[in-house]
Amino acid sequence: MGMYSKIVKYGLYLFWAFKDKSNRFKYWKELEESQWWSFERIKELQWQRMKNLLSHAYQNVSYYKMIFDKVGLTLKDITSFEDWKKLPFLEKDNIKNNLEMLIARNYKREDLLKNGSGGSTGSPVIFYEDKNKTDWRLAAPVRHNRWCGWDIGERQGCIWGAPRDLVEFGNIKAKLRNLVLDRVLILNAYELKDESMYKFAMKLKRCQPTMILAYANALYLFAKFLKDNKIEGIKPIGIISTGEVLYPERRELIESVFNCKVFNRYGSREVGLVASECSEHKGMHVNAENVYVEFVKKDGTPALYGEMGEIVVTDLCNYATPLIRYKIGDVGSPSGEICPCGRGLPLMEMIEGRTSDFIVTPENKFISGPGLSPLIMDLTGIKQLQFVQKEKGKVIIKIVKDDAFQEEEIRMLRSRLQKYTGEIMQIMFEFVDDIPKKQSGKQQLIISDISMKELSRTKGNEQ
Ligand SMILES: [Zn+2]
Repeated sequence: MGMYSKIVKYGLYLFWAFKDKSNRFKYWKELEESQWWSFERIKELQWQRMKNLLSHAYQNVSYYKMIFDKVGLTLKDITSFEDWKKLPFLEKDNIKNNLEMLIARNYKREDLLKNGSGGSTGSPVIFYEDKNKTDWRLAAPVRHNRWCGWDIGERQGCIWGAPRDLVEFGNIKAKLRNLVLDRVLILNAYELKDESMYKFAMKLKRCQPTMILAYANALYLFAKFLKDNKIEGIKPIGIISTGEVLYPERRELIESVFNCKVFNRYGSREVGLVASECSEHKGMHVNAENVYVEFVKKDGTPALYGEMGEIVVTDLCNYATPLIRYKIGDVGSPSGEICPCGRGLPLMEMIEGRTSDFIVTPENKFISGPGLSPLIMDLTGIKQLQFVQKEKGKVIIKIVKDDAFQEEEIRMLRSRLQKYTGEIMQIMFEFVDDIPKKQSGKQQLIISDISMKELSRTKGNEQ
């Protein structure tokens, strides 16, 4: 660890947390400790947090009061996880149709952060989070980043697409924070073209970040670009892949190009980090202090170890819009394995998570699927959407409308997308009654006949 990294870790980081009145540092410290607790002790902590959340939701969130009454439960009736499972699941539609009722009345709206999701499944949803949740949401990835060998104060390289998270879109304070504290080098996931990837590669070579964090497919695209162009000498200690499914053969290529291990991470905009791999790579450890995860089979019963089920999460930290038994739209499986690393955090596997593809523009720019989320998450009146690309100069956006739909949404989406695709790209809309799911129950955001063909057309495959 370099001198400057030490100054950041032991000085600046704490100072900044103090200045911002942020609990991020304190929470990270707590997480560093509790990861080594036994599974039983962690479960006890979850239960304490669950009880507090339920009692808050019952007293301050009219939606949950209504739900409790509907199923004939009171707080006193819930004395174990089993009782708690009598509460119904929360679907995306429930949030969309009842957002006002889901916001806790003991929070001031101006103190809350408006957040939203939609990129992975094409089903936009808006919710709020309180400051405490934001601190937890930012603390958990710090713990995971350290599992891959990075430490606070060290540089990161990052391929990311959410404008709000990108420093280049941020204010001066965010830029300053990045410069002295977070030290993240960013490649915009809307800008995956040869020229920008080359520039990014040169920056990484110069600054040698300890870790690289990116969406799975963008990471693969970048690794392939480096290989095809014989660019060597980028030496991170670890790589974190997130946002999309990481296919084994892609993981292999990424690991061989960077000559280090890839650590898979599964998270969502709604709850933050859900689960992630440690250096044993025996599955993903659930971020159990913050999130309670269930796996539910098609018949509604819990999936057993190794069985596939829909992932249902309860966010133990967000009191502003409590998400209790929320069907997040992914599929996974609980694992009964004990990890040799010694952490008590339970393990899970993703059987098929988010698969998204790229949109390819006429100028050969790849636009990453998870990066599209911010373009669509605040659109109202759209129940579901999907990008379909069959030819290079054209993308069709299939839309299932709901009652609140207005033509304005279409105009907005077109202009936002056109900013990244350029004017030559033809964007068409098609209104449909339904967008069929894949066999696994997953909704696919992008269907492309182009991106894989374009990928294999690059230099490396011609030799
Ligand atoms: Zn482990």
